[in-house]
Amino acid sequence: MSSNVTQCTHRLPSIDTLLRSPACVPLVDRYGRDAVLATLRQLLDDLREPARHGQLGAAELAPEVLAGRTNERLAARHRSHIRRVFNLTGTVLHTNLGRALLPEAAIEAVQLAARHPLNLEFDLDSGKRGDRDDLIEGLIRELTGAEAVTVVNNNAAAVLLALNSLGARKEGIISRGELIEIGGAFRIPDIMARAGVRLHEVGTTNRTHARDYEAAINPRSGLLMRVHCSNYSIEGFTSHVPTAELAQLAHQHGLPLLEDLGSGSLLDLTRWGLPAEPTVRQALADGADIVTFSGDKLLGGPQAGIIVGSKALIARIKKNPLKRALRVDKLTLAALEAVLGLYRDPDRLAERLPSLRLLTRPQAEFLAQAERLAPRMAQALGASWSVAALPALGMIGSGSQPVARLPSAALCMRPQVSKRLRGRSLLALEAALRALPIPVLGRLDDDALWLDLRQLDDEPAWLAQLAQLAVLPT
Ligand SMILES: *Cc1c(COP(=O)(O)O)cnc(C)c1O
Repeated sequence: MSSNVTQCTHRLPSIDTLLRSPACVPLVDRYGRDAVLATLRQLLDDLREPARHGQLGAAELAPEVLAGRTNERLAARHRSHIRRVFNLTGTVLHTNLGRALLPEAAIEAVQLAARHPLNLEFDLDSGKRGDRDDLIEGLIRELTGAEAVTVVNNNAAAVLLALNSLGARKEGIISRGELIEIGGAFRIPDIMARAGVRLHEVGTTNRTHARDYEAAINPRSGLLMRVHCSNYSIEGFTSHVPTAELAQLAHQHGLPLLEDLGSGSLLDLTRWGLPAEPTVRQALADGADIVTFSGDKLLGGPQAGIIVGSKALIARIKKNPLKRALRVDKLTLAALEAVLGLYRDPDRLAERLPSLRLLTRPQAEFLAQAERLAPRMAQALGASWSVAALPALGMIGSGSQPVARLPSAALCMRPQVSKRLRGRSLLALEAALRALPIPVLGRLDDDALWLDLRQLDDEPAWLAQLAQLAVLPT
């Protein structure tokens, strides 16, 4: 018995032999000697037991084979944690998937800013120190009609900074219907508290009137606030005070009106057949003194929080030490300037700005795409799945138009198994799609997995990896 085992036992090669073997030399070149050494050690440790029990043949212990396995381990460990994915969830501006995609012009601007010194805070005309906001102030004023502008890290920071600058140690009056929570623990009451503004809520969840605000105004009042209901909608018996009326009321009492538009938009989206979203220009024209909005939602740019408004109030905001803590970096400013530049030519914006191009893609185009891809997917999945090309409904995402749905088209995959096993099969398919070299993310709904094709604009790359789809227990 024991002699049998001895017969099958093969000795593990020594670390030194392996390190010097021709198969390992390129690994040392790529990953460095220390990393290769550590990985080889680990691999040999893992193989010691099976080798002792005679479970490994000579072929499995050949230096080339061990080098191959070492390479796999090193490649997995050195793979970037930031991975490209296919967002086929149907939500175009998906916060967890990075929101807006930048246009080429912005990518070029980011490269330039990353590679070279630049006039970030340096006025090339006077040769004196400059202000980074100056780089984009002119453009934003032109596009919104604002008197002045400042930019920070994101819109949450914009709201925090504006509230703290204008309302610290005073009361902020806001309707109960606007005390929102958006994803990632951003809640208006908490942000107000952190900004040092005492929350003074008025009205009710569904109805707030001008007289509610008026009755709340007192000597401790610091500002009136309006927040765009980004991720929900109140319907039915409702009433809210239009911005113009609210601004008038605020100004009668010498108070500023701060409006958080959330996504906001620089142009009227209905010209592209999209649901109407309040524009920054309109909010300012209606009398809001400060308006805040995101750079990477409908605007289609980099993550940023843009604050526009009157000269005097923006000056106060810029003097707040928090502004320094929340400021944007040069890459963001470079991308933002390039994106804003595209808005000067609205006629060509939908071809140039990826998020708008995706939002306005005609349904017929990806219905045809779904018809084309369904047989390929069916082939990849085998007989235990049905694959159909179906119309579907997507959404803008990131709190824009929470109830509006975008007509879309999807591949709909249903497991052909008993109801009891369906859930398991769907999770297995979801995991298999996620494990592809470029992970594919869809959504589960109605006992099926849906891949919404609105955002599949790299069909060849998607098809190329389909053969690697490894499913599935059915
Ligand atoms: C999205 C949103 C924010 C936060 O903006 P970020 O850019 O994600 O920080 C704040 N307020 C409203 C109303 C929003 O919709």
